[in-house]
Amino acid sequence: MSKAYKRMVVVGGGAAGWMTATALATAFPGSSVELVESEEIGIIGVGEATFPSIRNLHKLLDIDEADFLRATNGTYKLGIEFCNWRAHGERYFHTFGDFGALSGPLAVWGQHRRVADPALGPLGDQCLPSMMASQGRFQLPSDQANAFNYAYHFDAVLYAGFLRTLALKRGARRTEGRIVDVARRADGGVARLKLADGRTIDGDLFIDCSGFASLLLGRTLEEPFVDFSHWLPVDRAWACPAERTGTALAPYTRATALEAGWAWRIPLSNRTGHGHVFASRYIDEERARDQLLAQMDGEPLAEPRLLRFTTGHRERFWVHNVVALGLSSGFLEPLESTSIFLVQSGLGRLIELLQPGPAPTAQMVSAYNTSMARQFARIRDFILLHYCLTARRDSKLWRAMSTMELPETLAFKIHAWRQAGVLHQYDEEGFDATSWLAIHAGMDHWPDRADPSLRDMPPDTALRGLHLRRDQIASTVAAMPTHDDFLRGVLARRGLNN
Ligand SMILES: Cc1cc2nc3c(=O)[nH]c(=O)nc-3n(C[C@H](O)[C@H](O)[C@H](O)COP(=O)(O)OP(=O)(O)OC[C@H]3O[C@@H](n4cnc5c(N)ncnc54)[C@H](O)[C@@H]3O)c2cc1C
Repeated sequence: MSKAYKRMVVVGGGAAGWMTATALATAFPGSSVELVESEEIGIIGVGEATFPSIRNLHKLLDIDEADFLRATNGTYKLGIEFCNWRAHGERYFHTFGDFGALSGPLAVWGQHRRVADPALGPLGDQCLPSMMASQGRFQLPSDQANAFNYAYHFDAVLYAGFLRTLALKRGARRTEGRIVDVARRADGGVARLKLADGRTIDGDLFIDCSGFASLLLGRTLEEPFVDFSHWLPVDRAWACPAERTGTALAPYTRATALEAGWAWRIPLSNRTGHGHVFASRYIDEERARDQLLAQMDGEPLAEPRLLRFTTGHRERFWVHNVVALGLSSGFLEPLESTSIFLVQSGLGRLIELLQPGPAPTAQMVSAYNTSMARQFARIRDFILLHYCLTARRDSKLWRAMSTMELPETLAFKIHAWRQAGVLHQYDEEGFDATSWLAIHAGMDHWPDRADPSLRDMPPDTALRGLHLRRDQIASTVAAMPTHDDFLRGVLARRGLNN
């Protein structure tokens, strides 16, 4: 580990803090990693749906899947079901699977549109995990033919606790206390933290995982906030857990578009997480709360909790000796479950830069900041795509979203798709071209002209190929266990650490 940062201090013990402490303690055994958290303040405790990259993190941290699922009441997630986004009564899946080739005569989506045979069903039937999701089935991906990606749902509070145990086992230290003051170095960086009981904590590198408080990067260093609320106007959420009903355990998150936002439904093994993310400029809090309660399919297990936020991020993420990860660095609405992914992404880059040798140069820090800012902007564009293609005009939110001036980067992508069927990708994309296709297709948004190369394949051949692909997917899925059965089998297995 870089000698310049002998003492690493993590501020905050939510998911971001404990992910960071575990990863640092694992990557740099024997180094000094101290995490400060305040039980009095607590953690946000939402953030129950994830992105497939979390499996890479778990692999690096040597986390056994069964142990993790058992400890966090976790379930498998194949993707997200979007209801009512284009129009009332319509639904589609964005899962972590593929639709075969994306361009040329073999492009599945292109031939599917060209032959337009209703017997083929929706394009989603050409995607293995979408078909699995729609039938409530799950099995781990096996070989090339059955390749797909998946993520998890979990209880965010239990997840932080699970990682805490792991981090402490690997040598991280935990200090309980409320930080009330921050002493600065001559160069503007942070020298030490002062706790309410008078103790002080010195450090060389401070990782700010203090949540929306953004104690170091925001409050102390006063790094400006890049506000995305012009494009992503949601700024509140009601969150509420509910009893699990007798219905089958869905292997996906559901996001249902409402009057002034959308509602999430996240199935855990013991309960269901519900929430309503909304724009307070279009609906009052009480009405939004009622809409959440009307969406819930089980008895509430607690009073709904209101959370307030602004979408966007700090201009820079690493300033002096402070690096912010998690909500302290920024937040995009949780539509595509990308917050924990962004923590992981920042953390991975940070660990690379902390490898033994000289301290990261100013250029390296600047490249880190540019890269994180780009990732936020790319994901912002992807989330915005879900809204701006809507055909809904039934409320102020949807009318505003359908007519808004888009960021140039997104406007260009939409133009490239509409004009030429090209799924343009920039650097630092969080979502690949297949994911973009899933949203375009789900929102019934297609290029103006068909790719002439599609005609290289006779229509009969194309039709036969699509029926074959769909039938093969259907028979593979029919042989899979239900999500409930599969999960039960995994939970019954003892993990490596048991
Ligand atoms: C409505 C909503 C839904 C979300 N859904 C998802 C989702 O589905 N998927 C996803 O990936 N993400 C989601 N997120 C984001 C996710 O919740 C967070 O990214 C994740 O939980 C990490 O939070 P955190 O660790 O940054 O902050 P927190 O969990 O808030 O932790 C902050 C820590 O800092 C400590 N702290 C703060 N001030 C002090 C102080 N003065 N002294 C000492 N300690 C202090 C607190 O005690 C706490 O330990 C959602 C967020 C919201 C708001």
